[in-house]
Amino acid sequence: MPASPLMRVRIHGAAGEVTGSCHLVECLDRKVLLDCGLIQGGREEAARNAAGFGFDAAAIDAVVVSHAHIDHIGRLPLLVKRGFRGPIHATPATIDLARIMLEDSASLAAADAERENRHRQARGEAPTTPLYGLREVADTLRLMRALPYGEPAQLFPGIDLDFENAGHILGAASVRLRATRQGQQRSLVFSGDIGPANVPILHDPTPRREADLVLLESTYGDRLHRSRAATVAELGAILDHARRDGGNVLIPAFAVGRSQEILYWLARHYEEWNLDEWKIYLDSPMATKVISVYQRHADLFDGEAAALRRAGKDPFRLPNLRLISDVQDSMALNRRAEGCIIIAGSGMCTGGRIRHHLRHNLARPNTDILFVGYQAQGTLGRKLVDGADSVRLFGETIPVRAQRHTIGGLSAHADQAGLLDWYGHFRNRPRVALIHGEDRQRQALDKQLRERFGVEALLPKPRAVIDL
Ligand code: ZN
Repeated sequence: MPASPLMRVRIHGAAGEVTGSCHLVECLDRKVLLDCGLIQGGREEAARNAAGFGFDAAAIDAVVVSHAHIDHIGRLPLLVKRGFRGPIHATPATIDLARIMLEDSASLAAADAERENRHRQARGEAPTTPLYGLREVADTLRLMRALPYGEPAQLFPGIDLDFENAGHILGAASVRLRATRQGQQRSLVFSGDIGPANVPILHDPTPRREADLVLLESTYGDRLHRSRAATVAELGAILDHARRDGGNVLIPAFAVGRSQEILYWLARHYEEWNLDEWKIYLDSPMATKVISVYQRHADLFDGEAAALRRAGKDPFRLPNLRLISDVQDSMALNRRAEGCIIIAGSGMCTGGRIRHHLRHNLARPNTDILFVGYQAQGTLGRKLVDGADSVRLFGETIPVRAQRHTIGGLSAHADQAGLLDWYGHFRNRPRVALIHGEDRQRQALDKQLRERFGVEALLPKPRAVIDL
């Protein structure tokens, strides 16, 4: 009988799509979960979140999370609700961000359930309950254990873990799990989400050199981003045009990463872009909290951001920036038809305050909407980017006359060249499974991996099993 594999990886989420990251590693009689993310999108996706995990939550021994984006950690409280009691390993900054992200996620879940129940009541159906609440979030946070970059730790006898910087958002890591049994060793590297090189604030991703299997994200496996410099110039040109048009500018942005980067660029180009003629609003209490987490972990900043801080300059501060926390103040912005740059979540317009701003501004031809991040299938953001001429919002059909701009180059994800470069640092050309990408993206990346490195990638389907 052949010996049982040292490691068995089961792909439970983000197989052929970019949300719901979740992979189960069985090794030396332990079950370790890599990420436990929320599947994002519309109603169908919401139903998939509530359905079973496909494994017994109580049987998981430990969880390792790559970073604090909700599509990587958003089902942790559900895992806890369903019986998981083990440790959750993450970097210190990820833990600080996870608190903000999960508390927000719980309140979104409550709002979703409330809305769903209004429909159900109208149809005479039984009510539903939220996916999880603040209590499960608190239980989850208590299980979190901090592990800094570059400090290997023993997870269980024979299994060790380490994090390296992934350059994606503050605290984001690539994860290595290594198992040793009777002198035999196998290692798995999970890329998490890999950031591009040469972005502000964060260091470039730290390369990995050795693995037996790499789970590699492929969000932008089929394209090359414009350079940061060209992108920032594009941002300036759009703002300049918008200023002459006289409308408002809406920037749907994730609270973590993108919002901070936008503020960073606005601060850097404040005079050049005549930003004193605008009123700038960060209408996201969450993004404001995230800024303080960034400030607390300034030791993770790259050279330029660190130098700004040493010179006493806050890389996120603008003279005319107002941080909006109050709902009333946010609603008051709806009465203003011009002169405002509003940065608000959520990044894919699936929830949050941006939806109110869209409702009031979409029909105006002099509104400019700047999409600065990935828009997943099924989201309102994706519909707008794809050119919908009307959308449904708050039960109304809203015509879309606003100008839409996709600024792909501000991505927090590496492009095809960046992913190939990251893989290229592995000296032994390990097997690679492409995850966290739609099929078109991973097929394109697979083709490049074959041409450049002679490796044929696996494109696992949901529930696929890979033995090591
Ligand atoms: Zn991410």
